[in-house]
Amino acid sequence: MTIKDVMSTYRELLQTAREFLEKKGIADAGLDAWYLLAHVFGIDRADFFMYGDEPVSPEKALIYKELVEKRAMHVPLQYITGTQQFMGLEFEVDENVLIPRQETELLAEEVLKVCKGKSVLDICTGSGCIIISLAVLGNLNKAVGTDISPKALEVAERNAKRHNAAVEFIQSDLLEKVKGSYDIIVSNPPYIKSDEYRTLMPEVRDHEPRLALDAGETGLVFYERIIKNLDKYLKPGGYVFFEIGYNQGKEVSHLLYEAGFENINVKKDYSGYDRIVCAKKRLNDIMEE
Ligand code: GLN
Repeated sequence: MTIKDVMSTYRELLQTAREFLEKKGIADAGLDAWYLLAHVFGIDRADFFMYGDEPVSPEKALIYKELVEKRAMHVPLQYITGTQQFMGLEFEVDENVLIPRQETELLAEEVLKVCKGKSVLDICTGSGCIIISLAVLGNLNKAVGTDISPKALEVAERNAKRHNAAVEFIQSDLLEKVKGSYDIIVSNPPYIKSDEYRTLMPEVRDHEPRLALDAGETGLVFYERIIKNLDKYLKPGGYVFFEIGYNQGKEVSHLLYEAGFENINVKKDYSGYDRIVCAKKRLNDIMEE
């Protein structure tokens, strides 16, 4: 984009940005050009239709130009605008946290069905999107989130504050520093195999935290480590919910089966891929009789 472009109308500016992003191979170039325009100028579609042919402020146009150029470098839109919606709530995001995904809303929805009045632990909380939505929408008795990354937890803390959610965050390698036991444990841990990681789109591979995505040679290491320790942290009769990769339904179910879990259920996402596994911890034998 050139200086001439910043002396233009909203419509012309948008058009130039769209063509520029298309040329740079950005998928959804038009949509991203629009979202950035809305972000910088604080306008919505109605404003655009009313004032689209009026000249823009050159100062703001220069900011817009910078952000469009960032997007052309494959920086995800959400890291540029600094926000992402999840479960109808707005979350702050930056390069230290995974951008909340639509599929993950399914995980939160499943937990919402059973979490009223319960204690819930979210492992690998990242932006805090899961546990904060549950705390806001789910009437929890107790809400705790853990992450290994202190920088991610700073973002999660700010998100909890933003939504006035009573969530305690603990810096911990999975369950390492967690105390007590919970009715429900939920996690969207890293689950991409290292080989696959290298083939991800540049937005994800080069900009989202590797720590939140790469799960070694098999992609299963975090499920294995969590499941191995669940007995201590999950109450008898409690539930565990995992987000999983599209081809991990059988393997994660098997791990839970081997660990003695019952009612193991795999749920598909809207694209028809396995996405959620949930299971129940057995009640103590004495209580079952
Ligand atoms: N819990 C966060 C999310 O689902 C982060 C997950 C992660 O970092 N693996 O978006």
